[in-house]
Amino acid sequence: MTTKELEEKLTYKKKSAWKDDLKEIMDYAEGYKTFLGENKTERECVDWAIKTAELNGFKNIEQVKTVKPGDKLYRQHHNKCVVLFVVGKDDISEGMNLCASHIDSPRLDLKQVPLYEDTNQAVLKTHYYGGIKKYQWTTLPLAMHGVIFDKEGKKHSFALGENPDEPVFFISELLIHLSGEQMARPATKAVVAEQLNIIVGHIPLDDEDAKESVKLNTLRILNEQYGITEEDFLSAEIEFVPVEKPRDVGFDKGMIVAYGHDDRVCAYPAFSALMEMKDPKRTTVCVLADKEEIGSVGSTGLNSRFFENAVNELTHLIDKQEGTYLARKAMENSYVLSMDVNACLDGNYPDAFEKRNAAIAGYGTVLTKYTGHGGKSGSNDANSEYIHKLVKLFNENGIVFQTGEIGKVDLGGGGTVALYLASYGANVVDMGVGVLSMHAPYELISKADLYSTYKASKVFYSIED
Ligand code: MN
Ligand code: MN
Repeated sequence: MTTKELEEKLTYKKKSAWKDDLKEIMDYAEGYKTFLGENKTERECVDWAIKTAELNGFKNIEQVKTVKPGDKLYRQHHNKCVVLFVVGKDDISEGMNLCASHIDSPRLDLKQVPLYEDTNQAVLKTHYYGGIKKYQWTTLPLAMHGVIFDKEGKKHSFALGENPDEPVFFISELLIHLSGEQMARPATKAVVAEQLNIIVGHIPLDDEDAKESVKLNTLRILNEQYGITEEDFLSAEIEFVPVEKPRDVGFDKGMIVAYGHDDRVCAYPAFSALMEMKDPKRTTVCVLADKEEIGSVGSTGLNSRFFENAVNELTHLIDKQEGTYLARKAMENSYVLSMDVNACLDGNYPDAFEKRNAAIAGYGTVLTKYTGHGGKSGSNDANSEYIHKLVKLFNENGIVFQTGEIGKVDLGGGGTVALYLASYGANVVDMGVGVLSMHAPYELISKADLYSTYKASKVFYSIED
C-alpha cells in the first residue's frame, strides 16, 4: 500500500458539503430564506408551520376520532409550540423517529410598564430574552412583533417595521467622541441592560399644558390605530427584532446572514423533511419548541409535558385502554435528533476553539455527542451504540456530516433540548447547522450545511429499526 492509500484507509478527514448538487443546495436555501424573513417569532413560526402542514394534509389531532398508518397529525400548544406526526406502519410502542428543534430566538422583550418620555422622545423599556452581548443590539433598525389585547379582548398581532413603508424603532448609543470612559470598561459593562431603551416617538401633542406630550401623542396614535391604551401593555407580549431580511453573503452567495438562524436553521429542515414523509415504517415526529433560549422552561418549553401529552393523545387514539403504556414505550424506544445549532470555528477568534473538535462551516451538519458546561454538566452525552448507528446511516446514504464541540473545554458552553427528551429513556443526540456569530442580531450560516441538515433529517425519519 502506498502512503496515500494508507492515509485514505486509516485516517479521518472532514468532507466538503459543497460536493452535493449545487443547484439543489441553492434552491433549498431560497425556501429557507423566505421562511426566515417572514417568521421572526415563535408565534409566527407556529402559525406558519400549521398553515404549511395543513396544505400538506396534516389534521389537528383534537379533531380526529381514529388514526391509521400514513395519517398526518399535529397538536399545537398556546400558539408557541407544535408537535407534528406522520403515523407509521409499525406498532408505535417500538418507538418513533423524532426531530426536535426550537423556534424562539434571542431578542428584546418589552417590560410590562414600558412607555415613558425622556429628552423629547417616547421610549420603551425592554428586558432582553436569551443570551446576548448588549452592545450588539444598539443602533440597529428594529421591528416590533407580538400581541396586545385591548379592553374588549381583541388580539392585535404586530409585525411592524418589516415593510419599507412602515416605521422602525431604534436604540441610541453614545457617540465615539464622548466614549473615552465607556471604551475603557469591560465589554459586559459597555452597554448595560437598562440602556436598551427603544425610541418609538418624537412629535409632541399640540397642547402647551400637556405633561409628557410626546408620550401622550404616541399613546394617541396607538389608540387611534389599534384601540389600545397604556394599561394594555401589562398583558402584552411584544418582541423587538432586527429588521433586515435574510441576505446572501459573498461573491459566490454561499452563505446567509440573517436574524434568528438559531434555531430556525434546524427547525426548517426538520419540518420540511417531515412534510415529504409518506407511509413511514416507524412513526415520524417533528417538534418545534419554545423557550430553549431561557432553559426550555415554561409551559411551551420542552421541559413541559406538552410533548408527552401530544404522544399520549396519539396513543389513546390508537388504543384507548393501553394508551398511556404505549406512549411510555413509544417515547423510551424512540430515536431522537435534538436539532440545534453548533458553533463554527471562527477565523477571527481561533483561540476560543479547539480546532480538531470544532465544526467548520461548509463541512456538513454537525453531530454532537455532548453539550453542556465544565465536565459535561447539563449534557445528554449520547450513547456510542446510537451515534454509531447514525454515522453508519449517514455514510451509507451519502450524507456529509462532521462532529463538533462548542469551543474549548471550560471556556463556556451551551445547552439544548436533548436532556429533556432523553429523560423519557430515548436515544438522543444533538445535530444541527454550525453558526458563526451565534446570538448576534445577525448570524451567519453555510447553505451547504443547511442542505446537509435537511438531507440528514430525511434519512433519519426513514430509519426502519
Ligand atoms: Mn439553539
Ligand atoms: Mn441559542
